[in-house]
Amino acid sequence: MPDVKLYWQNYIDGAWTDGGAGRLDVINPGSGEKLAEHALADEADVDRAVSAARRVHQSGVLTAMRPIERGRIVQAMGKYLLDNIDEISALLSLEQGKPLWEARKEINGAALYFEYYGNQASTVEGRSIPLGSGYFDFTDNEPYGVSAQIIPWNYPMEMTARSLSAALTTGNTCVIKTPELTPLSNAWFAHAAEAVGLPAGAVNILCGWGHQAGAALSAHPEVNQIVFTGSVRTGIAIATAAAANVVPCVLELGGKSAAIVHDDADLEAFENDIRWGIYFNAGQVCSAMSRVIVHESRHDELVERAVNVARSLSVGPGIERAEAGANMGAMVSEAQRDRAAAMVAEAEAQGARVATGGRAMNIPGAFLEPTVLSEVTPEMTIAQDEVFGPVLSVMKFRDEADAIRISNGTPYGLVGGVFTRDLDRATRAARQIRAGQVFVNQWFAGGVETPFGGYGKSGYGREKGREALWNYVQTKNVAIALR
Ligand code: NAD
Repeated sequence: MPDVKLYWQNYIDGAWTDGGAGRLDVINPGSGEKLAEHALADEADVDRAVSAARRVHQSGVLTAMRPIERGRIVQAMGKYLLDNIDEISALLSLEQGKPLWEARKEINGAALYFEYYGNQASTVEGRSIPLGSGYFDFTDNEPYGVSAQIIPWNYPMEMTARSLSAALTTGNTCVIKTPELTPLSNAWFAHAAEAVGLPAGAVNILCGWGHQAGAALSAHPEVNQIVFTGSVRTGIAIATAAAANVVPCVLELGGKSAAIVHDDADLEAFENDIRWGIYFNAGQVCSAMSRVIVHESRHDELVERAVNVARSLSVGPGIERAEAGANMGAMVSEAQRDRAAAMVAEAEAQGARVATGGRAMNIPGAFLEPTVLSEVTPEMTIAQDEVFGPVLSVMKFRDEADAIRISNGTPYGLVGGVFTRDLDRATRAARQIRAGQVFVNQWFAGGVETPFGGYGKSGYGREKGREALWNYVQTKNVAIALR
């Protein structure tokens, strides 16, 4: 096992510092053992980080730069991550539980955000608006200033990269609140910021309790814009704090996303969607394919195939899995694992059938068997609430309208999918599914280039794609009267 430093500090105004709220233990979910300690920021630490970010913003150092230059700096941060991918991915695997090869995939994904957004720095253009011969009018896009970003534990590197890269590209400075369960790997963004020559205070990375440091950051009067990725409950608290300060926020929340599988779907190919859709990152993916709504004529075959996929996965410590394959790591914590197992037990009590899995594994660490539930009905808790674990719920439908109704029958609306060879059917479903992103015949189709975000309780605003750049700028109109 690679050596991990025993104590990690916060990065505020270019310096590594202890936290006013003490320390927290970071546990390796693949073994159940303590991995390291991390400094816990308090309100005063948050205040220093925001002040530093504000100072750098007001200095004009980032906004004065030609955007193409700023974009190069952002791109260099991504290259820095790739240069250190071995070390970062091992650390990420140890703190989060995911297989090492998945951790490498995440670092590659994180680097891609810096490449993609850095590339577009010079494309954030305004427009000129004709007002007749007496005026010359144009718009400019100015950064908000200090961007606060509150990060979840499931993809700590990709989630930070997603907002940090776009915010820096558009000339903002940033304060990042890392997740309590997986705070360690985010230190590499501080190393990257230093390596590419960003001024001290432009990027601040700190860990603290959500209710303390997170709440202080989201309510800070000097923060100009907030990006939050996490649960609905916390999203509501953050939106409330943002409203009190009249600052915009982007909310990327949870999901209970469904694939509609028609009678003409290629079920052999769909096995791959099951493998990735619900067992990647042990199902701890906001856009996981947690529900499958299958035509009744193909139900039994689909359940059998899903069971085979689940049973084909070998489950164990992620750090031992360097090669991509049919395997799965730990969940992030024993508490999350126990919550998922309890939801499976509740579903069984409500009448669902555990076709495979469903139990905590009898080995040290936070492992849950890859699980398939059949005979799930739309009103069951398991069909309504996010499990955030490797648990697939299979339901039946009779006709198209029925399928759409079940698919849209939760408060969420993050992503959805439809599997069919019939283009008309697919197009109708794409129009009717109430979600920010629809996959046709491939779960997770898309990339950093495609806008991502929720309908309903899955949040608002879009991250990824060109759309996200506009989260970080505000429009100024300049009207010049010609005399
Ligand atoms: P969470 O809401 O508990 O925590 C997320 C972050 O918010 C953490 O950094 C936490 O410390 C902080 N936080 C907690 N309370 C806070 C408060 N009162 N004020 C400010 N900050 C606070 O969520 P989680 O359990 O870490 O993440 C899992 C959830 O995130 C799932 O619901 C998942 O679907 C969602 N998620 C969504 C996306 C997306 O892009 N839509 C991506 C990943 C995860």
